[in-house]
This record gives sequence, C-alpha cells and structure tokens, in this order.
Amino acid sequence: MGNFAKSREVQQQFKANVISHYSEGTMKCQWCSFGDMRALSIDHINGGGARHIKQVGNLYTWLIKNGYPDGFQVLCMNCQWIKRAQRNETAKKHPLPHRYTKRLNEPLFTKEYWNSPEGCQNLETIREIQLILASTLQ
Ligand SMILES: [Zn+2]
Repeated sequence: MGNFAKSREVQQQFKANVISHYSEGTMKCQWCSFGDMRALSIDHINGGGARHIKQVGNLYTWLIKNGYPDGFQVLCMNCQWIKRAQRNETAKKHPLPHRYTKRLNEPLFTKEYWNSPEGCQNLETIREIQLILASTLQ
C-alpha cells in the first residue's frame, strides 16, 4: 500500500464506501438508525472481529479487496457495546451491574423490538439505556 492509499482522506472514502454498501445506502446503524459517520463501524455479525482485524489489518481495505463478503453489518459504537455485552464478550473484564445484565434479555434490547412501531416510539428510552450501558462498559 503506497502513501496515497494510506492518506486519511482516502481512508475516509474507503470507510464511506464500505458503510454505504453494508447499510444499503442508508449510512445508518442497522440497529438504532444513528447516522453520524464518526460513530459508525463495521460489525462482524458472528463475532470474532478483534481476531479478524488483527489478521487483516485495515478492515475497510480488506472488505473492498474481497468484494464485500457477507457476514458484516453497520453498527454505531453504542450498539457495538450493547452487542458485546449481550454476547458476554467483555463480561470478565467489565462486569455489568446485575440490574442491567438482567435487562439485556428483555425484548427492549432486540433489533425486532427497535424496528417495531412500539420500539420506534420508545427510541428515547432505548437511547438512554444505551448510553447507560455504554458508560458502564467503558
Ligand atoms: Zn446503533
């Protein structure tokens, strides 16, 4: 990779292309519809992201080179944290207080609920809980 491909602007463009592809042009988090590019990232749907990124280095470049393979989605960092908590990946390092871990199993935290009419009405509550969870995990 030459200096050109390493430049920040080019990297931002790569990221925009990848986010656009995996969000089907919406440029939004697939769970909560948050749309600020600075907080959007690519999520490995079935986990193992940290190990994979260690192998390939730059994920955006890798995805482009490999023709946008399946198994990835666009999530914002809040939803990444929530997903991690749900998958228990950070349980040892950052145990959540029981009152939150208990709530993670509630329908409130499923994608289906967020996309339902009732979930849309409760988006503010969901965001509030997301922020609490995110700050708990940091
Ligand atoms: Zn989100």
